[in-house]
Amino acid sequence: MNITVIGTGYVGLVTGVCLADIGHNVICVDNNKNKIELLKKGKSPIYESGLEELIKKNIDHGQLSFSTDLEQPVKKSDVIFIAVGTYPLPDGSADLSQVENVAKSIAPFIDTYKVVVNKSTVPPKTADLVKNIILKIKPDANFDIISNPEFLREGSAVLDTMQPDRVTVGGDSKKALDVIKKIYAPIVKKSECTYFETGTIEAELIKYTANAFLATKISYINAVSNICDSLNADITEVSKGIGLDHRIGKIHLNAGIGYGGSCFPKDVDAFINIAEQADYNFNLLKEVRRINNVQVARFVEKVLKRFEGDLSGMNICVFGLSFKPDTDDLREAPSVKIINILTKNGAKIAAYDPIVKKEFKKYSPNTQIMDSSFEAAKDTDAILILTEWDEFITLDYGEIKKTVKNAVIFDGRNCLDRENIIKLGFEYYGVGR
Ligand code: NAD
Repeated sequence: MNITVIGTGYVGLVTGVCLADIGHNVICVDNNKNKIELLKKGKSPIYESGLEELIKKNIDHGQLSFSTDLEQPVKKSDVIFIAVGTYPLPDGSADLSQVENVAKSIAPFIDTYKVVVNKSTVPPKTADLVKNIILKIKPDANFDIISNPEFLREGSAVLDTMQPDRVTVGGDSKKALDVIKKIYAPIVKKSECTYFETGTIEAELIKYTANAFLATKISYINAVSNICDSLNADITEVSKGIGLDHRIGKIHLNAGIGYGGSCFPKDVDAFINIAEQADYNFNLLKEVRRINNVQVARFVEKVLKRFEGDLSGMNICVFGLSFKPDTDDLREAPSVKIINILTKNGAKIAAYDPIVKKEFKKYSPNTQIMDSSFEAAKDTDAILILTEWDEFITLDYGEIKKTVKNAVIFDGRNCLDRENIIKLGFEYYGVGR
């Protein structure tokens, strides 16, 4: 099948590359010239395990190409995936301007039957919006709209695309649904995942319902972690205990400094807004959001309390900057908020992240970015673990202790073996432990 994917961010690029890898002819289009130049050379603009190898392989095999131009790719393609950003507006609703612009730009080039797929996370009825924009520009355009929300996780995006739990496809045209089924057939066959066909509006809602539910799990366990702090109980034991119940499951039950990234915060906000438009006051999600915001403040309070409210002139070492391990994404990363509060309180920050380097300066110009954990920890008054990269879990803290000034660790992800850390002579502060 000939496919155009518009938007080469985490979703568009991974989708395009994986669809090329299963045998489709894919052209990835982006209006960011620098990204396209980099991609044409076989280089990935984002850090995602296994992605660059697949880009190179599929360029070499002639399955994958890149362009800033839309006309030829759209004319040549049977299917056009829209995978651009849907960033939040000040009222929390999704900004659909990138999606609308794409709809306007592709409309003139729909010269034969095409399937237009909304892969971006978009509110209910966006399929109708895209359809009407195209028809206004080209009333005789022959096309159908499909909603195909994406559930990949940054850090394991290639794996999630090749071996998804499910593929969700919403639409009301059998012809278009059959085209999309054919596209995903090799992935569905190989991974034996569920291929779920549903209505358009239901598919649009499924994405928000799923993300908001996962965010709710995180805020729920974070709320319980506050009770554990007061009762001197260990939240990791409580999480383990409830995770043994199959109805609950283990995932997203790690207490810590809260969720971040480009999806959960914006999708929770957008879902609250969608509910409002539907005359429902989603107080539950408002509380999920509040708990998440407070979690960062509670963590910083612990640091301030330990140092009697005065961090002036202190050296603080930060392990981990990305919003979660195995990605370079800093969007809504708790590290940014925490470092900015600590800096305002007079602390000097030396940070190390396995992937995030100088680009962090954009978020916090005074943070010193170091080349290793040992450099960051040298002469520090306290170590803060803000992202649970494997490298920090397996680090030799016995050796680290020799370089620090004060052996104090604040484990914002509850990822360390607390007993071992204490045995090594560190003061240990977790979240709800
Ligand atoms: P992103 O911001 O990383 O990438 C979007 C890309 O679209 C950018 O490269 C931008 O230059 C390009 N773009 C914007 N307007 C364009 C236009 N008119 N023509 C061509 N290119 C254009 O976004 P992302 O993280 O890949 O997310 C895309 C969508 O997928 C969002 O709706 C998001 O909510 C959803 N989503 C994201 C994830 C994730 O983990 N990042 C997971 C599931 C769903």
